[in-house]
Amino acid sequence: PTAVALFTADLRLHDNPVLHAALRTGGEAVPLFVLDDAVRDAGFLVPNRAAFLVDCLHDLDAGLRRRGGRLVLRSGDLTEQVCRVAEEASAAEVHLAADVSGHARTREERLRRALGAAGRELHVHDTVVTAVAPGAVTPAGKDHFAVFTPYFNRWAGCALRTPLDPPRALAVPAPVGSLPIPSAASLAPGRPSPGLPAGGESRGRERLAAWLDGPLDDYAQGHDDLSRDATSRLSPYLHFGCLSATETVVRARGRGGEGADAFVRQLAWRDFHHQVLAARPQAAHHDYRPRGDRWRTDPQEIEAWRAGRTGYPVVDAAMRQLAHEGWMHNRARLLAASFLTKTLYADWRTGARHFLDLLVDGDLANNQMNWQWVAGTGTDTRPNRVLNPLAQARRLDPDGAYVRRWIPELAGVPGPAVHRPWALDAAVRRGLDYPDPIVDLDHALARFRAARGLD
Ligand code: FAD
Repeated sequence: PTAVALFTADLRLHDNPVLHAALRTGGEAVPLFVLDDAVRDAGFLVPNRAAFLVDCLHDLDAGLRRRGGRLVLRSGDLTEQVCRVAEEASAAEVHLAADVSGHARTREERLRRALGAAGRELHVHDTVVTAVAPGAVTPAGKDHFAVFTPYFNRWAGCALRTPLDPPRALAVPAPVGSLPIPSAASLAPGRPSPGLPAGGESRGRERLAAWLDGPLDDYAQGHDDLSRDATSRLSPYLHFGCLSATETVVRARGRGGEGADAFVRQLAWRDFHHQVLAARPQAAHHDYRPRGDRWRTDPQEIEAWRAGRTGYPVVDAAMRQLAHEGWMHNRARLLAASFLTKTLYADWRTGARHFLDLLVDGDLANNQMNWQWVAGTGTDTRPNRVLNPLAQARRLDPDGAYVRRWIPELAGVPGPAVHRPWALDAAVRRGLDYPDPIVDLDHALARFRAARGLD
């Protein structure tokens, strides 16, 4: 019997339960990826992620060919395409990773129905996308954890799967045709960010190995320092599933030490947000905890934020890093998001959309739930805290190196003075093509506190 392994957010051969299960039924399997119209129509296929995806597909195809197989690529309505391929291959089963978004749920339901009508079975596998399955641990009487620390305590005690080896060989039934892998430009018109990382399982594994082999040890000390750039940058590989979350946790734990502990804790945040979205798919678009916010919409302010021209250098550096690399340091994401939602008091959805337009790791669970966390409409237990960009800058970029790296207009301003360009000598200030602050921080804080009824 033949089975179809439908790749989604698991573009890898190592530790892939979906592929493994499809191959268990016999020697033949169809490794299938569908360029899903619904993903494109939702605006999710943007140039940065399209470029990364195309790299992933090439790498996957090369890995499959080395093992005697090949990637089968189709395009269109996902359900229709999967049914057609299953028919062509005379496959009795289709295997798929469980995933948490509303889109993933609908996809699964539609597939189950359509395949069932043709006498075929859909098998859905947990712990492909996350290390611990959403819902595997819950507080008494509830369907998900709304607070991270108790979640983490339970998560840390879960036994993980032993990572699976990649298949040694596989054969794809001859009659099943495939499209060529398209160019990124044909998938998403527009130019990818110039500093985008290359995608694919091979690159992800190289990066993981290099990370575990040294930099990890410094993670606990270094991960908050914007200028040191001491985080793993594995997020796009985890988002596309080039790396398995399970394998990443297992290998980091195997290295041990406080760096590994801190890193594994961040990976638990990923699972945490996935279990929230799994339980409340509507939280991708609606407040998880409505606070009655009447968000402000000032198009000029929002545009200044997007363009990295708010006049607050650390916020602007963050936004320019995003535009240039399609990626942003976690601390930079936190303060850029806080600036939009709390200082400008603009709707978190506006910011989340902009991030999703650019982030190469742009992920519905992580992005939307982190935005809600920062906006105070999500799972933060201190929903009304406001990050002061100046205090943050002094703490996270004490010498100003991060700002100088990303804001060429300020590259000549030495030391921490770069964080307060408005306080520079008037003659120096005039020579800089850099805007004045678009908002007064005290005024903004008072406005936010009044809006939330805190005074
Ligand atoms: P590391 O510090 O090396 O962490 C290792 C891994 O842990 C990351 O690759 C990621 O998979 C996971 N992780 C770390 N922090 C978080 C977190 N707060 N939430 C969930 N997972 C985490 N992450 C995304 O993967 N996609 C997104 O779209 C995304 N949007 C975000 C939006 C905002 C407003 C904020 C505040 C955070 C967002 N994050 C998102 C989380 C986090 O910023 C990134 O995962 C991290 O910066 C990626 O860099 P890294 O791989 O070097 O992380």
